Amino acid sequence: MRCPFCHHEESKVTDSRNAVEQNAIRRRRECLQCQKRFTTFETVDLVIQVHKRDGRYEDFQQDKLTRGLDAACRHTRISHDQVRSIAYQIAIDLMERQVKEIETTELGEIVIRHLKERDTIAYIRFACVYRRFKDMDELMGEIQSIAPTEEVKTVSTLKESV
Ligand SMILES: [Zn+2]
Repeated sequence: MRCPFCHHEESKVTDSRNAVEQNAIRRRRECLQCQKRFTTFETVDLVIQVHKRDGRYEDFQQDKLTRGLDAACRHTRISHDQVRSIAYQIAIDLMERQVKEIETTELGEIVIRHLKERDTIAYIRFACVYRRFKDMDELMGEIQSIAPTEEVKTVSTLKESV
């Protein structure tokens, strides 16, 4: 990113919180030569293809991921705001890594890692149903059908299979 003041080629990112606006990541940068600060809008290809287990592809959708996470996190310590922040963080990570295509299994593992850091119930609920299903729609249907009394059963099933 060339400095708009002195045209030096190198700069550093000064704000660790990047913001996604439209199809761009907004970053605050500081020129390594003149130390002036400027903002860049770095466009990224937002079209990430999710390669599903049945071989089909679909566009990665942050909204869909949020809905799936919401279902997994219901009645846990993870709030809707946290869910949105997890989905957002995952989307940013994928964009920053400039991922063009991701296996549905890899996406699931990323989600699982995020949940594991925050809440055990949500993590187990997501992990054990996730691995059996083809896509987020099926997963959500399954999670929604899990009655609270079945959670214990689900947990013990998971333990046996490990
Ligand atoms: Zn400069």
